[in-house]
Amino acid sequence: MGLTEYLFHKQYTIWVPAVVTVFTFVLSFFLFQYTVERFIYRKIKVIYKNIHQLKLKKGQKPKSVDLNTDIIAAVNKDVEAWAKDQKEEIEYLKNLENYRREFLGNVSHELKTPIFNIQGYIMTLLEGGLEDDKINRTYLERAEKSVERMVNIVEDLEIITQFESGQLILHKEKFDIVELARDTMSSIQYSAEKNNVRLVFKDHYEKPIYVKADREAIQKVISNLLVNSIKYCKPSGIGETKISFYDMDENILVEVSDNGIGIAQEHIPRLFERFYRVDRSRSRDIGGTGLGLSIVKHIIEAHNQTINVRSTVGLGTTFGFTLQKVK
Ligand code: ADP
Repeated sequence: MGLTEYLFHKQYTIWVPAVVTVFTFVLSFFLFQYTVERFIYRKIKVIYKNIHQLKLKKGQKPKSVDLNTDIIAAVNKDVEAWAKDQKEEIEYLKNLENYRREFLGNVSHELKTPIFNIQGYIMTLLEGGLEDDKINRTYLERAEKSVERMVNIVEDLEIITQFESGQLILHKEKFDIVELARDTMSSIQYSAEKNNVRLVFKDHYEKPIYVKADREAIQKVISNLLVNSIKYCKPSGIGETKISFYDMDENILVEVSDNGIGIAQEHIPRLFERFYRVDRSRSRDIGGTGLGLSIVKHIIEAHNQTINVRSTVGLGTTFGFTLQKVK
């Protein structure tokens, strides 16, 4: 074998096995990758189909899933959206559960006091009080007051439940809000006078101001706000509650403004929550259920309108709500 022939043979024996090895390696790599990908794809298809089934609402027919598209990307997108939905739903259910627990706790707490009071009065009467003319009437009157409080709580709860379950249907009609305010003021005139509070209009509203709303519900709103202005007036001096109306293009703004004890800023954000009271004992002593403002807010929001409050401790409080204006 000559030198040239020897060198050629040596090169050949090195390169051929090297090329074959590399080729085999690359081929098996792609084959392996293809097999694994097929395997994963098949598994993911099953998951994707399952997600599709789970996402369907009751009674909805399953849609056919196009498996020729980029399934990995679609799965990714769907899983993300699905996880977000589930998280939001869990959050919502948790809030609902907390709300339910808190609500039940509040209701039983509110009813417990009058029930125990009634029990106490009846026991005293049965244990001889009935024959004692000095106390029998007083105790019966006190028991009656507690029953009245329970009735108020239950009635207010009923209204709130009707609003929240969507059972309460508004009967909107055109009416004069000035006239309604005047009627409401005169219906509680007696209680206002007893507490040294004057109920007045801020201006002379000689012409009618027409709004479209549920007359009875709005009467309840005005009445609740007026009664509150009487309940939370200053202990001494003359109280004054003014009602005013402002034209705001599409709406009429109604304001009920008092010069009572006022509300500290920290209470304002929670004021419309059910059973929220600034001064628990004062509210209970004067027969408050802690539900009045919550009902007011429900009524105004059911009209798709807004209510707000501004207040300064020692100076007074103004509640303002809007109503749809009509010609
Ligand atoms: P309540 O039956 O206790 O009056 P509301 O829901 O009507 O319940 O009011 C919630 C709380 O808001 C009251 O307990 C009171 O502390 C406060 N509040 C409401 N209106 C006034 C007002 N005009 N002036 C001062 N405080 C008020």
